[in-house]
Amino acid sequence: MTTTTDTGVLAARFQETFGAAPDGVWQAPGRVNLIGEHTDYNEGFVLPFAIDKTAKVALRVRDDSAVRLLSTFGGHGLVEADLSDLEPGTGEGWSRYPLGVAWALKERGIDVPGFDLLLDSDVPLGAGLSSSHAIECAVISALNELTGAGLPAEELVLATQCAENVYVGAPTGIMDQSASLRGAKGQAVFLDCRDQHVDLVPFDAEASGLVLLVIDTKVSHSHADGGYASRRASCELGAEILGVKALRDVGVERLEEASGLLDETTLKRVRHVVTENDRVLQTVEVLGRKGPASIGGLLDASHVSMRDDFEISCPELDLAVDTSRANGAIGARMTGGGFGGSAIALTPVGQEQQVRDAVVRSFAEAGYNAPDIFTVTPAAGARRLA
Ligand code: ADP
Ligand code: MG
Repeated sequence: MTTTTDTGVLAARFQETFGAAPDGVWQAPGRVNLIGEHTDYNEGFVLPFAIDKTAKVALRVRDDSAVRLLSTFGGHGLVEADLSDLEPGTGEGWSRYPLGVAWALKERGIDVPGFDLLLDSDVPLGAGLSSSHAIECAVISALNELTGAGLPAEELVLATQCAENVYVGAPTGIMDQSASLRGAKGQAVFLDCRDQHVDLVPFDAEASGLVLLVIDTKVSHSHADGGYASRRASCELGAEILGVKALRDVGVERLEEASGLLDETTLKRVRHVVTENDRVLQTVEVLGRKGPASIGGLLDASHVSMRDDFEISCPELDLAVDTSRANGAIGARMTGGGFGGSAIALTPVGQEQQVRDAVVRSFAEAGYNAPDIFTVTPAAGARRLA
């Protein structure tokens, strides 16, 4: 994926396209989730970080209600819309993200003017790194500033959630945009999804001689949407039977009791969420005390729980994880919603090439498409560049 990266080049391209200089350039990162999967909608804990791959937007407000959008990403032409016509569920492609953000801000009573926007992103699409939230967070940062709304990060998180849930129609939580908006260099974002409380937790893999590899399997299985909805339903059922508001309120000590109350499938789903919440807390504790080299076992256990209890892995993800572990990674797990997308592998620097080669080889041998493998490091959250 190409990116102009240079802010000046993007501003110049904006000027060429729209005939005037942008008011500014804003950037927001994608994210990777270190641990804490399917815990967000159970009001639990997650530990993502903002990555060093970002969406940049050059933006200029207009004095009418027209919106003109262009992406440097191949094959997308200019999209034109009008703010007064925005309706949830309308529009297509990537334009729904900036338009959804504008709509969500308007819903909050903010007087959003029309705007011209040029997007340039190097966050891989559909790899589970939240390229969509990177766009939304860059746009909302720009509009929050240019309208003078000055909303705090917690409100921006809810507004982008509203854009995704209502305007785009994707049932996402608050993790991705929290990482993108609130992340910081060298830090993971320990987020309590019940009250949006954030603690930044140092995650300096490099200083521990480690790299975090992302293995994008490039697969997206067709049951992803239905699987996600049914997992959510199981979690709600489990919480109801156990008499709690959300599974966040169930500790590991209640699992034995739960086994007498829940059917087998619901028990497995509940057990994943309950133990995963516990693993997030343990990861934060271990990171603080011993550093990244000590969290491998927790990453492995998270994968096993998603594979066997939550049943959201797939052969490609399992192969990526198993091959990484067999070739020197100290911990590996699928990351993201499941049924495809990416795995992460925490790997000693000296083993990186071996892991990469082995995963590529194993995918070829299995007859799978070649995966995309790259490293990510915790980077700054959304900010203005120019
Ligand atoms: P994810 O957020 O996990 O990457 P989504 O399906 O939520 O996956 O979002 C991917 C969508 O975001 C793409 O289908 C595309 O519409 C849009 N998108 C992301 N980056 C760009 C880009 N640089 N240019 C145009 N559209 C983009
Ligand atoms: Mg997305």
